[in-house]
Amino acid sequence: MSPITINFDDLSLPGAPKIRITPPGPKSKELLAYQAAHESSAISYAKGMPMAVRRAKGATVEDMDGNVYIDCFGGAGVMAVGHAHPDVLKAAHEQIDQVTHALDIPTPARKEMEEILVRALPKELTRMFFGGPTGSDAVEQAMKLAKYNTGRIPFIAFEGGYHGMTAGALALTTAASHKEGLLPLVPEVHYAPYGYCYRCAFGRRPEDCSMECTQYLDRMLADPHSGVTKPAAVIVEPIQGEGGSIVPPERFLPNVREICDRHEVLLICDEIQCGLGRTGKMFAFEHTGTVPDVVTLSKALGGLGFPISAIAYRESLDTWPTAKTIGTFRGNMIAYAAGAGALRFMLDSGLLERTEQLGRRALELLKGLEKDSGIIGEARGKGLMLGVEFVSEKETKKPAPVLAKRMRTLCHQRGVMIEVGGHYGNVARFLPPLVISEALLCKAIEIFSDSVREIENNPSGE
Ligand code: PLP
Repeated sequence: MSPITINFDDLSLPGAPKIRITPPGPKSKELLAYQAAHESSAISYAKGMPMAVRRAKGATVEDMDGNVYIDCFGGAGVMAVGHAHPDVLKAAHEQIDQVTHALDIPTPARKEMEEILVRALPKELTRMFFGGPTGSDAVEQAMKLAKYNTGRIPFIAFEGGYHGMTAGALALTTAASHKEGLLPLVPEVHYAPYGYCYRCAFGRRPEDCSMECTQYLDRMLADPHSGVTKPAAVIVEPIQGEGGSIVPPERFLPNVREICDRHEVLLICDEIQCGLGRTGKMFAFEHTGTVPDVVTLSKALGGLGFPISAIAYRESLDTWPTAKTIGTFRGNMIAYAAGAGALRFMLDSGLLERTEQLGRRALELLKGLEKDSGIIGEARGKGLMLGVEFVSEKETKKPAPVLAKRMRTLCHQRGVMIEVGGHYGNVARFLPPLVISEALLCKAIEIFSDSVREIENNPSGE
């Protein structure tokens, strides 16, 4: 099928970015104050980007005071086809009039989602399971499947990995700030160094790298005194998201696959953030021709942010007896309709190839900025999953989380939404809707670059 011709400018609100009043304006402040008075102190995004949202379209968000932002965060990577994508919205509206909840009983919407996933997934992953609605739920299901099939308890995850907030998923996550005061979660989770070359755990540079990170994983599994008993699975983000948009070396994932095979351990790829087109392939593991045993999906799967998650896995793992794993929300009819529409659009419109090209262009601009700036240690990423790591000095690589947070504020005040992540909270992250126009993306990077210069000219921010 030849790609559909799309005018990407028309998918977003016109005139972005448009700042009428420095955010938060009075109407936003009113809603923020109400929220602060009644909701949990754990609220975070509304503190980092103080605003209240009136509406959103494509890669743009309008706040209550008429400010229009270029959305380079896309609801934490959820809005792959953009806010309010017209075809996807239509599919969701139509589904609401038909049926909205049906447990795991088949419906045409469910079948549509399954058909599009069969089309998108590698042929080895023949089975799917829709559990609870969040990414964390998918991770829990993947853990349960691995434990059930292997009869083993331990897991190996990677430093910098983020897998969610429920007990099992949080145990696989490494960020201390999320875990402090909550331990122990689940027992026997071990962590291996990720292929984070900018801060290589073994002090190597790309020129003298012998993939010590995956050698270490091998050693954890091979050495009877490593302290790790044979795990049920190794779980990995093929490209790390919250860890700081980290693209490991090309050999990393194939090595992990080979090591898992040799030690007869399952491989789970967590594609909740890097999957479904984000990096220019439907799944990030495709960049290296690797096929996992289990893949976890959520975020973009619901098309327009309707909550849904899934795991897909090999036929040989489909050993669960009836009702071994259950739940009230086993899929979501509106999310099926919207998600199927979004994935169809992705596959039929050439969006993946466009994401790859647009990402390359954006990375080129960010790399240019890295070269000229004394506070950017590294700009990196793949497709439209990009990160810029801030340091106080390039030589020492001392992390500069305060600068990354100032960047978020400056960009927000100038009409660009970005987020902050990374091991040290010092990485500015871009996860824009994949339908962002080239002009909007370049404008966002221009504003980002101006903000970097402003910080360089006024490091104390006074
Ligand atoms: N796995 C990855 C890679 C993620 O990025 C996230 C969320 O950011 C999750 C799991 C958890 O998803 P959720 O927040 O929907 O529970």
